[in-house]
Amino acid sequence: MKTLEQIAALAPAMTEWRRDFHRHPELAFGETRTSGIVAGRLREFGLEPVEGIGGTGVVAVIDSGKPGPSIALRADMDALPMDDESGKDWHSHTAGVAHACGHDGHTAALLGVARHLASHPPATGRVVLIFQPAEENGLGARAMIEDGLLDRFAFDEVYAFHNMPLLKPGEAGVRTGPTLNGYIIWDITVDGVGGHGAAFFKATDPLQAAARLATEISSIVGRYLDPAESGLITVCSLQAGSSHNIIPASATLSGTLRALKPEVLALLYERLETACAGVAALTGCTISCKRLAEVPPCVNAPEGAERAAAACAAVLGESGVIRDHAPFPFTDDFALLLQAAPGAYMFLGQDSAMCHNPAYDFSDALLPVAAGIFVTLVRQRLG
Ligand SMILES: [Zn+2]
Ligand SMILES: [Zn+2]
Repeated sequence: MKTLEQIAALAPAMTEWRRDFHRHPELAFGETRTSGIVAGRLREFGLEPVEGIGGTGVVAVIDSGKPGPSIALRADMDALPMDDESGKDWHSHTAGVAHACGHDGHTAALLGVARHLASHPPATGRVVLIFQPAEENGLGARAMIEDGLLDRFAFDEVYAFHNMPLLKPGEAGVRTGPTLNGYIIWDITVDGVGGHGAAFFKATDPLQAAARLATEISSIVGRYLDPAESGLITVCSLQAGSSHNIIPASATLSGTLRALKPEVLALLYERLETACAGVAALTGCTISCKRLAEVPPCVNAPEGAERAAAACAAVLGESGVIRDHAPFPFTDDFALLLQAAPGAYMFLGQDSAMCHNPAYDFSDALLPVAAGIFVTLVRQRLG
């Protein structure tokens, strides 16, 4: 209880840090201000952060000096390319960029953990704090790993949480096995021949091709996926044209396809390429499809899920911990860290608009809850 009271006392500071990050959101790999502030705070707490890992990543180690497991905790730092319509006093000061997924809160909570553990270190082992860039484009965890994260800061277990508006405040979801979809981020370019809107017969219209392709892609899951499997494809961007009387020369579409099994991801991507080839043949446009990122499903290890659930129960009570929820359809490149070491990904309920909605804002009430769960997990493992 003493620990949780100490964490609760950090809530005003964590709230201030969170709102500052919210005012100054930065896109994937552009988190220079955020990571600079993170590193500065860590130094203030007496730690020795290492900066620039995988671009803008920051890592700090709290070592007890005694033998024991090495436990890694990870927060993501990036924001989204969209407007902030939260209407809060701490709304984004950068047009077109918003912390609409709550990574401002994840970062502030992990800073709270750092602050507490720096002055109350674990009795054994060590804690590795990972502040990761670029979760939203699926490239940040890979960049940190390629920059030597796993060799330079070896860890035996790894944990992360995501705020979850689909759960109520006071609820935590932790399941064993697959817990989040893997995804492939795809990007399609449709090239045609532009021209006058009235002379469509002299043009090769990429807008019409893109529109057909969008509906064709949206029918893939319903026509080609075994209904016993789960998977989804979403077209989230379709860009074409500039005026009412100009047929554009090109159009673009982008989106994601997601599934819990690698073989389903492969099947969906194959059907996506087939749809591109089919619409190209039909319309005469040149259509090329690229995969921009690929992230595997997020799979919780049984012991990791048990440990995370025990920490959640210590903070929220047994009745707040949901162990048998269905996997969520989202994706997090934390999956790559879970491939490197066993652990778990937790969902912590909060009252807010859905993530990626323009009205979304991270709930500050979740900061001491999340930090309390992380610190409890560390105490339970390392003393
Ligand atoms: Zn997000
Ligand atoms: Zn997120």
